[in-house]
Amino acid sequence: MLGSLGENLTNTMKKLVGMSVIDKKTIKEVVKEIQRALIQSDVNIALVLNLSKKIEKRALEEEPPKGITPREYVITIIYEEMVNLLGREAVGLDINQKPYKILFLGLQGSGKTTTIGKMCRFLQKKGFNPAVVCTDTWRPAAYEQLKQLTEEMQIPLYGDPENKDALDLAKKGLNEFKNKKVIIFDTAGRHKEESDLIAEMDQLDDIIQPTEAILVIDGTIGQQAGEQAKAFSQATDIGSIIITKLDGSAKGGGAMSAVAETGAPIKFIGTGERIDDFELFDPERFISRLLG
Ligand code: GDP
Repeated sequence: MLGSLGENLTNTMKKLVGMSVIDKKTIKEVVKEIQRALIQSDVNIALVLNLSKKIEKRALEEEPPKGITPREYVITIIYEEMVNLLGREAVGLDINQKPYKILFLGLQGSGKTTTIGKMCRFLQKKGFNPAVVCTDTWRPAAYEQLKQLTEEMQIPLYGDPENKDALDLAKKGLNEFKNKKVIIFDTAGRHKEESDLIAEMDQLDDIIQPTEAILVIDGTIGQQAGEQAKAFSQATDIGSIIITKLDGSAKGGGAMSAVAETGAPIKFIGTGERIDDFELFDPERFISRLLG
């Protein structure tokens, strides 16, 4: 279970390994270390406190199962509690019905359009041939950007830069691709007012009735991730989260707030601007990054 987290111990965990006895004082020290690391990674304070309380309680009260040293068991508890917060069952996409309609949501600049390109490539590699519908009527270049991305992969795209009615575009796109197995909907990331954006997403959600709504969050924005996730969940049931821009120095701690707000797991991460810079979410690596 410890996998790479066990092998690739972060500084916090290394301290634990160096300790010969695991007593109350040691556990409290380790919990303090975890708190410090998570706060530095921009994880929401309330989440940090909640998490550390759980870890401390379990570490003090639970007996390690046979064959596991108390030290290993404390590491296991830390890992389990963090995975609980990050969404345990993050296993990519399970395209189990036709059409599988994916609604992409996210603020402008979050990396939504780039991520749609990456998702198309990912699906193509899995043997699917997705189609894309552009409903973004706010950003003039959105359609062009999608056109370029999809043309390279020979992916069908529906859009009409002259049409300023997102709902009409969604309906026509649905009709255009009614025989496709996977349809991906790009949406606007900006309106004059955020409430108008959320209202449009709500209406799109009614029309499209997505099989899965995916929220794209910029991994560098820290605490605002929670508020963004909360706003978008008013429009639709967020089914999964993609965190972008984790190729830089950002630790992605804000992502934990987004997960806590929506209850949706992180399924993929973006690790660069190129089409293949896209990975399945690996909780162990992400936890190492947060604690490291
Ligand atoms: P949108 O407004 O949400 O559709 O965002 P775009 O897809 O246009 O992306 C905004 C900027 O972020 C572009 O410059 C992208 O190249 C960049 N970007 C997107 N994903 C990533 C990523 O995972 N890593 C890095 N470094 N840049 C990214």
